[in-house]
Amino acid sequence: MDSTTIDRGQLLARLREAREWDLAIVGGGATGLGLALDAVARGFSVLLLESEDFAKGTSSRATKLVHGGVRYMAQGNIGLVREALHERTTLLANAPHVAQRMAFVVPGYRLIDVPFYGTGLKMYDVLAGRQSLGPTEWLSAGRTRELLPTVRGQGLVGGVKYWDGQFDDARLAVLLARTAQQRGALVLNHVAVTGLLREGGKVRGLQARDGESGEDFEVRARCVVNAAGVWVDSVRDMDRDADAAPAKPMVAPSQGVHLVVDRAFLPGTHALMVPKTADGRVLFAVPWLGKTILGTTDTPRHDLALEPAPFHEEVDFILGEAGRYLSKVPTRADVRSVWVGLRPLVKPPDDEGDNTKALSREHTVIVGRSGLVTVTGGKWTTYRAMAEDVLDRCMAAGLLERRAGGVTVRLPLLGAAPGRSLSEAPGEHLYGSEAALLRSLPGASNWLWTDAESGRGALSEAMVRFALRYEMARGLEDVLARRSRLLFLDAARAAELAEPVAALIEDELKRPVSAAERDDFAALAQRYLTLP
Ligand SMILES: Cc1cc2nc3c(=O)[nH]c(=O)nc-3n(C[C@H](O)[C@H](O)[C@H](O)COP(=O)(O)OP(=O)(O)OC[C@H]3O[C@@H](n4cnc5c(N)ncnc54)[C@H](O)[C@@H]3O)c2cc1C
Repeated sequence: MDSTTIDRGQLLARLREAREWDLAIVGGGATGLGLALDAVARGFSVLLLESEDFAKGTSSRATKLVHGGVRYMAQGNIGLVREALHERTTLLANAPHVAQRMAFVVPGYRLIDVPFYGTGLKMYDVLAGRQSLGPTEWLSAGRTRELLPTVRGQGLVGGVKYWDGQFDDARLAVLLARTAQQRGALVLNHVAVTGLLREGGKVRGLQARDGESGEDFEVRARCVVNAAGVWVDSVRDMDRDADAAPAKPMVAPSQGVHLVVDRAFLPGTHALMVPKTADGRVLFAVPWLGKTILGTTDTPRHDLALEPAPFHEEVDFILGEAGRYLSKVPTRADVRSVWVGLRPLVKPPDDEGDNTKALSREHTVIVGRSGLVTVTGGKWTTYRAMAEDVLDRCMAAGLLERRAGGVTVRLPLLGAAPGRSLSEAPGEHLYGSEAALLRSLPGASNWLWTDAESGRGALSEAMVRFALRYEMARGLEDVLARRSRLLFLDAARAAELAEPVAALIEDELKRPVSAAERDDFAALAQRYLTLP
């Protein structure tokens, strides 16, 4: 399928059309976008509205692992692991330019560690069966040090190597949006859903506002799905009579912090996995786009900020644990960027009668009495399976007619072509088969950012133009946080590039970039640099 430039004016004109959509989706994270693609691939007419940018919520803040979930195996939830392993294979096949296999090493410091973790991970292999990405291996101490050159050597008795996957979450989100768009879905960022159209107690559509122009829209839809992540309760709240009490919240957010440090802290291509930290959690150090991601935490949170701040103890915990396993100990001064994501932990409400169904997996789908469908929880890896579950529920509730599933199992996303390892600095390889188109744009060899370690160009003028022409980026943050991942990798460098990127936005979108937008981005970059 061809890559086409996307004109926002034309998209908004489609939003103004007097028509009824089969499916209207609220939220452009992994869940909503995966659903949009599945539904349009089945021939439904699909509208998706995202109030900020695609993946601005949790979906740009994952640990970037495409995984079966080793911990569910330990809990005996074999069905869930099998499903995630199947989805791992599917994702790696459909988006090889942004999702690849990756080797993880668990270092062992007690004699029991290697057989204990090795046996569990062999089981993981067995469960994967033909979908295994490579055999689990027991390692000597020497081999463990070869694969993890900076692992703490003192007391090391060996290790276990196993395979999972990693990905670029925000770029995958944009690819889902574009692929759905190419197939006929109307997918818009920076348009917020502000209310629901209700008739006779049933949801018949939604109200929305364009975040750029302030224009209001009313849209009719046979089925409305609330895929607003940790924000699903605010959309559920739109689905009640003025005099009714607010519904009991179904999400209890919990935040996870990631710190990014230089590659020198974990050189090589293998990730480090600590299955049990001092307080019983899991910690990863993962090579990603030329840097090392350290994380994560799991801290209950009572507010729903778009940019949650890390807590002092969370930063201490990650640095402290990383320091226990790495010979080159990271400190606060080494952190290039800190970002925080909110997990939507689901508490199914008990007032939905028989229509409530907590699925026997991580995510929950609820069909409310009004017909509003709400989905939340789950993980990035299983977004496609979640989409199938949601459509099954919509069809079972009579909101959509029956159409067979399985259509996205083999549905390559735009540009799908194998590329260089995701552990290396960003570059043209992330564009897969669209790299030729990228190189044809002005400024293909004008590098705005060159990776210091590899000396390779990581962000070109052409990539910024590509983001604005083809990837629906609308401003500084969209370009520097989610089309390029520079804000997540090196926030100080991202702040420095705001000026040249602003000039390209003015050239491509023919609009001035205001002082307020520049100041907002500078403040955001500062947040990603500020440790409590
Ligand atoms: C710290 C952390 C690490 C993780 N690591 C992994 C991992 O390594 N691998 C993995 O598979 N999973 C991982 N996950 C889980 C995964 O990231 C999430 O399951 C997934 O991103 C959730 O996507 P979502 O679309 O449901 O939510 P979101 O991405 O939050 O999307 C919801 C969207 O709805 C929008 N929205 C809200 N209100 C409105 C409105 N009124 N109108 C329009 N739009 C609206 C928001 O702006 C937002 O973009 C991790 C999660 C966390 C928190």
